[in-house]
Amino acid sequence: MADNTPTAGKASRLAGVKGMNDILPPDSARWEWFEDKVRNLMSRYAFRNIRTPIVEPTALFVRGTGQTTDIVEKEMYSFADRLNGEELTLRPENTPGVVRAAIEHNLTYDGGKRLYYMGPMFRHERPQRGRYRQFYQLGVEALGFAGPEMDAEVMLLVHTLFQELGLRNVRVELNSLGVPAERQAHRAALIEYFEKHAELLDEDARRRLHANPLRILDTKNPAMQDLVRAAPQLLDYLGDDSRRHLETVQGLLTACGVAWTVNPRLVRGLDYYSHTVFEFITDELGAQGTLCGGGRYDGLFELLGGKPTAAVGWGMGIERVLELLQSQQTQDLTPAPDAYAVIPDAASLAVVVPVLQALRAAGVAVQMHAGTGEGMGSFKSQFKKADASGAAFALVFGGDELARGEVTVKSLRDGSGAQRLECLDAIASWAPTLQSRA
Ligand code: ATP
Ligand code: MG
Repeated sequence: MADNTPTAGKASRLAGVKGMNDILPPDSARWEWFEDKVRNLMSRYAFRNIRTPIVEPTALFVRGTGQTTDIVEKEMYSFADRLNGEELTLRPENTPGVVRAAIEHNLTYDGGKRLYYMGPMFRHERPQRGRYRQFYQLGVEALGFAGPEMDAEVMLLVHTLFQELGLRNVRVELNSLGVPAERQAHRAALIEYFEKHAELLDEDARRRLHANPLRILDTKNPAMQDLVRAAPQLLDYLGDDSRRHLETVQGLLTACGVAWTVNPRLVRGLDYYSHTVFEFITDELGAQGTLCGGGRYDGLFELLGGKPTAAVGWGMGIERVLELLQSQQTQDLTPAPDAYAVIPDAASLAVVVPVLQALRAAGVAVQMHAGTGEGMGSFKSQFKKADASGAAFALVFGGDELARGEVTVKSLRDGSGAQRLECLDAIASWAPTLQSRA
């Protein structure tokens, strides 16, 4: 506190937390544009918004994300609540939170629920391009639907979103994890195979060999790629039902014009996953090319103490999507105001400000000129700011016009400099002529 006294000298500057970013204008316009597209899309698929807390009991992720995952092993921001010692964690993902909420509020009592969320997640990773410690995910969870058509539907959501955003060069990979019994048989074969080649396993793989051999398949270690490529494939262990489930998903995607490839090494190492797993991937973002990953997790409700409930969903990294978008299309998404209000002097504010309020109520986007504390500035400098704002019109509240109850509307964009007078007591009649937005 004493640091705030003038005699303490210049205060030191505080920086944000490493790996956690400020999202500033004009970039934030791209975020809002994206969020608008998402809301519009979700309503067309009848998915509804869910918002769960950012902080959850640590045990939720230990169970729901999985003890042997990178997230739980090393990436969680966990702390003991200072007041009661409760073990808490900043959510590293939102699926466990959504399922917890669904169980707690019995959301699926009258049938399936289609849910989506957007928000920040936290993982203690090494910050690099496309990998941050606070990052944002969009995700959907379809709860209470066992059929393959919902697997296809959630994948179509991603495909359609990318299409409507104008993203190019994103490929879809999918695989099936079958059901637990099928994975058991595959697991035994996998352990036998890796044990035979134990000298080729890295430290992570050796540790996971008996705890979670499936996870070895998605190792990023280049030295292990050949070994992993030749490993027994889960696809060869699928029974008829699982095979049919996968083929239905593939058929529906194809019918909707979505190209896909099977990647037999695409896995989720946890027992509550079943059937479909998938990723949407780009090669244009370097190493962090997975934009979206998801799958069916029919076993998770039970693992978290709920009734058996089929479920399928995905999570998407918004930073990665927006970075790809920005590299593919450079158009400025900052919305320009319709009009910029040029104000001669402080004395006129009492008349002008209510007029601006009325224009905004009528749907016009108006940027008000604001002074520096020493008056409003010259008309010339105000017109410069009006041009820079990108507004289509300047509203000039000159003294003479104001005295007659009028304002000059001057066109800024078409080069004509055309201007006209409008009546301040008939705003509703001319406000629509200022609006450029739908
Ligand atoms: P990765 O293999 O890249 O670490 P992951 O398997 O940990 O990804 P998921 O838990 O499936 O990722 O999360 C879904 C999506 O969230 C990822 O496909 C990615 O787009 C994004 N994502 C994950 N971690 C980060 C991060 N630290 N920073 C930015 N985006 C991330
Ligand atoms: Mg990760």
